[in-house]
Amino acid sequence: MKETIYQTICPGCGIGCGLYIRKNADGKLSIDHMKSSPVNLGKLCRFGMKLPHYYAKENNAVNLVNGSSAVAETAIKAAVEILKEADSSSIALLSVGNTTNEEQMAFTKLAATLETIVQTGVSSECLNVPMASLVEIENAKRIVLFIDPYVQYPLIVRRLLAAKKNGASIVAVGTQPLNLADETLDLKPENHDELKLDSESLIIADIHPNSDIMLAKSLLALAQKTYAKIQFMRPFMNSFGTGLSGDQESKKVGLAELLEDIELGNIRTLVVLDSDPIELMPDNEAAVESLKKLNNLIVISSRSSPITEFANVVIASEPVYSKAGTFLNTEGKLLENSGAGKAGVDALSLLNAGIGGKAFTYDEMNYLVLKAIEAQKEKRSVVTECSVSVDGVSSPEIPEGMYELKYLYNPFMWFDQQDDNDFVLLNRNTVRKLGLKKGGCVNLKSNRGELKMRFRVEALPNGLVLTAKKLPVARGTSTIVSMEGC
Ligand code: SF4
Repeated sequence: MKETIYQTICPGCGIGCGLYIRKNADGKLSIDHMKSSPVNLGKLCRFGMKLPHYYAKENNAVNLVNGSSAVAETAIKAAVEILKEADSSSIALLSVGNTTNEEQMAFTKLAATLETIVQTGVSSECLNVPMASLVEIENAKRIVLFIDPYVQYPLIVRRLLAAKKNGASIVAVGTQPLNLADETLDLKPENHDELKLDSESLIIADIHPNSDIMLAKSLLALAQKTYAKIQFMRPFMNSFGTGLSGDQESKKVGLAELLEDIELGNIRTLVVLDSDPIELMPDNEAAVESLKKLNNLIVISSRSSPITEFANVVIASEPVYSKAGTFLNTEGKLLENSGAGKAGVDALSLLNAGIGGKAFTYDEMNYLVLKAIEAQKEKRSVVTECSVSVDGVSSPEIPEGMYELKYLYNPFMWFDQQDDNDFVLLNRNTVRKLGLKKGGCVNLKSNRGELKMRFRVEALPNGLVLTAKKLPVARGTSTIVSMEGC
């Protein structure tokens, strides 16, 4: 077998950085930079550079029925039997956007046959708004950041630096000062008027399964009130493409609500497409406990992940880099793979036909995708007013002597990938107060146990501890902990 080169995009976040994946005769993978990619001009962040590990052969999904390996046909048949016997009112489908538009469209067809919709893990009512393009970042006069671009969406840093060079002022809203920001303001939503936004301003925030949707809506309302542009970054390669289905946005619920519905017994059968709630939820163990309440779990995936281990059926598709298909990045730009793999669409077609729907081809799905993109462009030129009260935006109470351990979501965390950044961030006051020694560690304690971590000093407010890695002592994106030196 000769070497094969695939033109693809990085699955690490919604920016959609272009790159080449090389597969040599022994199946070993390496990456090549794609200088012609308009999104990233060949540059990749640490996550993109580690894609050969992410896509390593041992991480590929395999077909399974009740934990035993099976051929694809057997796995699809088993899934058909489950879906035919399940009570249709208690079936849910989930895809957060880790695959092509064409697979997403095929999944929508399956949902329609089952008389339901595809959940995307985000309650997106009111949030499907026109996006600023990444180039617009460079031309904005005032940029307000509700994200940490270095950690969360690294490839927009170069756009922000270009904006600064063009004279933009940059404000970071939050507790962590950013090197590239002119100022950092720790503002509550009710004080966002102090940001002094106008039509030449740009707000950059993000939306993901664990976002505070009330905060996202309040930012949208702020943008509408001040005529500022808004860019919601998204964490998955095709998060934006999940909006193509035409499904009723108002019926979409957040991932936490979906798991609650499973807990309550309202959902008995879950079908997921390249989405793993165990990886996505801040508390892995709680997500496992919820999923155990299901009668049936069907996973259609290119990747093996914690959820594939206890699914009733796993239907494996090819790795994303080798799929035929398109993606929409965070700015709505259409990007395309050079691969020819259609196993994911074909499996969904067989599933759909098996439960009484129509079979379809990849080309038919591609046609529907392109049509939906055109329709979406027209829809997106109409801005809907989104009114929201800031009362629902929460901020936790921290008891005296305790600390708030907060997750700083990033591509490594979303996919539970190994990361060298194995430390927590504390401020200098905390280090002094706890008597921590340089090169030493800090012992974090919560009601879930304790954990020793290395630490780094960062200019944070008192009482805050940040982590870019999921920690077993954490319950969620925000956990109250006590700390002592070790
Ligand atoms: S910025 Fe996002 S898309 Fe680009 S290389 Fe990093 S993780 Fe991948």
